[in-house]
Amino acid sequence: MRSSQYLLSTVKETPADAEIISHQLMLRAGMIRRVASGMYTYLPTGVRVLRKVEQIVREEMTKAGAIEVLMPMVQPAELWQESGRWDKMDAELLRFKDRHNRDFALGPTHEEVITDLVRREVTSYKQLPLNLFQIQTKFRDERRPRFGVMRAREFLMKDAYSFHLSQECLQKTYDAMYQAYCNIFNRLGLNFRPVLADTGAIGGSMSHEFHVLAASGEDAIAFSDGSDYAANIEMAEAIAPTGERPAPSQQMAEVATPNVGTVADVAQLLNVDNSQIAKTLFVHAATADDAKNTSKTVQLIALVLRGDHELNEIKAEKLAQVKSPLEFASEQELRDLLNAGAGSVGPVNIQVPVIVDHSAAHLADFVVGANKDGYHLTGVNWDRDITKYQVADIRNIVAGDASPCGKGKLEIKRGIEVGHIFQLGETYSQALKAGVLNEAGKHQIMTMGCYGVGVSRIIAAAIEQNHDDYGIIWPDAIAPFQIALIPMNMHKSVRIEEATTALYNQLTAAGFEVFFDDRKERPGVMFADIELIGIPHSIVIGERNLDNQEVEYKNRRSGEKELLNIADIVSILQ
Ligand code: ATP
Ligand code: MG
Ligand code: MG
Ligand code: MG
Repeated sequence: MRSSQYLLSTVKETPADAEIISHQLMLRAGMIRRVASGMYTYLPTGVRVLRKVEQIVREEMTKAGAIEVLMPMVQPAELWQESGRWDKMDAELLRFKDRHNRDFALGPTHEEVITDLVRREVTSYKQLPLNLFQIQTKFRDERRPRFGVMRAREFLMKDAYSFHLSQECLQKTYDAMYQAYCNIFNRLGLNFRPVLADTGAIGGSMSHEFHVLAASGEDAIAFSDGSDYAANIEMAEAIAPTGERPAPSQQMAEVATPNVGTVADVAQLLNVDNSQIAKTLFVHAATADDAKNTSKTVQLIALVLRGDHELNEIKAEKLAQVKSPLEFASEQELRDLLNAGAGSVGPVNIQVPVIVDHSAAHLADFVVGANKDGYHLTGVNWDRDITKYQVADIRNIVAGDASPCGKGKLEIKRGIEVGHIFQLGETYSQALKAGVLNEAGKHQIMTMGCYGVGVSRIIAAAIEQNHDDYGIIWPDAIAPFQIALIPMNMHKSVRIEEATTALYNQLTAAGFEVFFDDRKERPGVMFADIELIGIPHSIVIGERNLDNQEVEYKNRRSGEKELLNIADIVSILQ
């Protein structure tokens, strides 16, 4: 590719509205442009990377025995009514009507459509097991689209669905998918961890998520340093102010206790419905030492912000006025509103396991320091003790605690969920009556698994893990181009042009994707762009080196430069 025939669209300045590095770099490197909230156009460089990720996913899925299909993005309401999810889904499911006034939705996932297909096409046990996948655009009207393609509304997903007649058979495919996912993320060159995941929301028995480790990750994942134990503490949705809340799962509860509780724990303690808990305020020891001293009984203040119930002496109408703790200028103001005089903060001072809410939506929540029982709020110095919620705080809380499997210590890291595998069981096949004739000639409902990969999210996750001050550092497998050719003052030198063109033809013929920067730009501009878009290998063609039949090679990741003989280039890079 010659840059003169390409749409490079690089930007020097860091876009003001992009919070995390991957979003900034994807904009600056000319990979994406925002069309509307959570919706992006992929520019040529973005598409090249997207297709690479897609292809690796496709290859590994195919290798693991899955077969590719392609379903429509628009789905009829009837199927969702049949599964019962038409009423259960909140506004994340974008619904609309066609010209005949029929209801439709933009597909956020495809369990219904695939189960409908399979119940029609598959009639005998002889056709099972079957694992069908697609790589397709999804739409979820996310409450808070953010971080570019990381949490978009329209995004690319690989979703697979498997059909079986026995749990053993499902387990086999599940294991194959687990392995395929490991292969995918290894090939992508990502530092990732599979973790046990919450099965609450969809139902089902077994689930793993695959997380790319990165400080900007929205999920907190708990590891044991002494065993393979790893689990996701996904509380973002559970504590979010509106919408459906997934029930905490068995695995969650295991990780959760004794120091990590769920919104359900709080609800139970307050004797209110989950949905009435709209906002929580974290209270725990201010320092690592304090945390250790009080590690088993971390204090939490939960403010119930909605609902018309009475919470001890606190009047409902007072609670209704509490919009957000952030709105209070001082402790006194909050106290006044709650009618809680000095020393009488009892009604809102409830001892429960701490809620770990790692969602970005709650980053602004307060963590209040206090190191004596019953000393919360009364002893708080608003300016000194109220800090932003940080993962480090949670780490302090759990520090010293054994992992649920009893081996090693529990450690919390941040992760980006890039894949999710799930044993669905008969949830959808029952609802849609998807069965086949089994070996005994009897009609039997199939059991299902589903397997998702966030193809577009992977790009952002890869950048979070691979960048420096100058830009992106692509893992070779997903780089938009492998090699950049940067000729010095080509427009003044026929010799440079000829040498670069010859090299370009050679490398292209050898199967490399080569970016030939033939712009009339200063060398500095070219270097900066090539580093920004993260091409792994670059070759500078200059007059002086050409005298010795040499060019300068630079490795983007190591930064190392060396002079190479032109005749050796192809074989060295191969
Ligand atoms: P999250 O917890 O981040 O909201 P999810 O659990 O809702 O994700 P799944 O239903 O498991 O997502 O979908 C499979 C995969 O699709 C996820 O593992 C993730 O990589 C990707 N994905 C989900 N939502 C989005 C989104 N809004 N933007 C980009 N990728 C997404
Ligand atoms: Mg989600
Ligand atoms: Mg999730
Ligand atoms: Mg998931």
